Amino acid sequence: MAKIYNNVYFIPGQDDFIPDSHVYVIGDPASKDLSLVDVGLKGKGNYKIESMKKMGIDLSSIKRIIMTHTHLDHIGCLAEIKKAIPEAELWVHKNEAGPMENGDDRIIHGMDAFKSMCEMQYGIRPGDLTFKVDRKLEGAEVLEIGGMVWEVIHIPGHSTGGIALYESAQKILIPGDVVYADYAIGRFDLFSADASQLKESLNRLAQLDIDILLPGHNQIVKGVPAGYIKKTAKMWEAYLV
Ligand SMILES: [Zn+2]
Ligand SMILES: [Zn+2]
Repeated sequence: MAKIYNNVYFIPGQDDFIPDSHVYVIGDPASKDLSLVDVGLKGKGNYKIESMKKMGIDLSSIKRIIMTHTHLDHIGCLAEIKKAIPEAELWVHKNEAGPMENGDDRIIHGMDAFKSMCEMQYGIRPGDLTFKVDRKLEGAEVLEIGGMVWEVIHIPGHSTGGIALYESAQKILIPGDVVYADYAIGRFDLFSADASQLKESLNRLAQLDIDILLPGHNQIVKGVPAGYIKKTAKMWEAYLV
């Protein structure tokens, strides 16, 4: 785990049989109002808790877990994290909160083949991925949390309730799996994905002034070149119809 910028900490995912998402801890530790962004794959929660402890983060300061989206590689270890931080709230976009609360795991797994494979590999039982959501996000909220201001942007396309978090003061974007380093974008063939929505979402993110890109997987980018997301969207445009 490393501090990447003022009040933003990075715990890299530890990819396994399938990928494990990165976790970001956002907020000024002095505020005692920290947030986790995503948690990761089943079995990958404990090392993230240990990483936070090693960094000297007081777990009782973590007030909420904000999900960029609810795919298994992002939400799979939520039970482990909630065991360590039981008071933390869970915030999810309304399009994915409802199905998850009702035990509909089609968005979580993305496709039937993954569901049966992952249930076997990770010993997932019925109900293991059903969680109560404390706050259903809609997009366009301005969150004043941890001494910072983060804008919630609804960016469907990779999944229906995908959100980005954007902090304009330091020009930080946390886009989940919608856009990565190296001009890569998230897949758009999963349940609830939509290629044309993904194109619109990329174009929306392209309007932002971004210096630091903190995606759900792979490299993080500091000093994002101007027009990076616009160029990425352009490169993928022919596929996003
Ligand atoms: Zn995803
Ligand atoms: Zn992912």
